Amino acid sequence: MRLLPLLLATCAFMFGHVTAFAQISTISDSTPIKYGTNHPLHYRIADFDPRLNLSKQQMIEISKQAAAIWEKNTGQNYFVYDPNADFSIHLVMDQRQIRSMKRSKNLHQLEQQQQTWLNENEQLQELKRQVAFSKAQLESLKHKYQVQSLTYQQNLKQHQNLTQQLDSQTEKSKQLYQQLTQAIEQFNQTFTPQVLHKGQFQGKQIFIYEFSSIDDLRLTLAHEFGHALGLKHTQDPKSLMYPRIKEQDSKNFKLTDTDLALLGLSH
Ligand SMILES: [Zn+2]
Repeated sequence: MRLLPLLLATCAFMFGHVTAFAQISTISDSTPIKYGTNHPLHYRIADFDPRLNLSKQQMIEISKQAAAIWEKNTGQNYFVYDPNADFSIHLVMDQRQIRSMKRSKNLHQLEQQQQTWLNENEQLQELKRQVAFSKAQLESLKHKYQVQSLTYQQNLKQHQNLTQQLDSQTEKSKQLYQQLTQAIEQFNQTFTPQVLHKGQFQGKQIFIYEFSSIDDLRLTLAHEFGHALGLKHTQDPKSLMYPRIKEQDSKNFKLTDTDLALLGLSH
């Protein structure tokens, strides 16, 4: 974009050059026409500086083309190339030409630079598009991430609450179990099932102090009857004469071998 003023300046320069040429033509116009098909102007091309990068033959061709411009619409053959002519055309290599060539060279470089810039700028625009696309994707991912993160945080909180509840419940359960164990121990100590405490045989009297059911009462009384018979306690928990009524079949009790042995009736 910065090159635009320079390019405009080039046009202005060229236009100025044409204007100068036109002024020369105007001067020529004022002189009477001395040449024509019958009496053309013979011209030759003088040697010129090789730095102009132009061959003599090229220059001759160019001069013929210039002459043709005059011939085309007039039908008059005003100019004839003639290597031996007195009239000569010179290409002068002075500061003006040197400056013009430098200018042309610089202009060419500038145009290349401009093209390079245009190419780079195209890449820049492409990168901008890619960055914009990437940014949009990131925004989308960020949104999803935030939603997921929120869900994760909520689930985490819920999980932590449940974990806390579990810990709390575990602790509570442990305490209750300890209390229960202590209570059971205390209960067993307090209510140790002993036949001697539940019932008692004293000579001619049997006292029943406690029974929990008819079956229990029946068995407790049966035990005390045993004592009344003069029997001692056994070591067999299933027997009637075991000190405690616990493992015996209180509903349909039958004397065990141990009980019978106390009576001397063992099998
Ligand atoms: Zn007893």
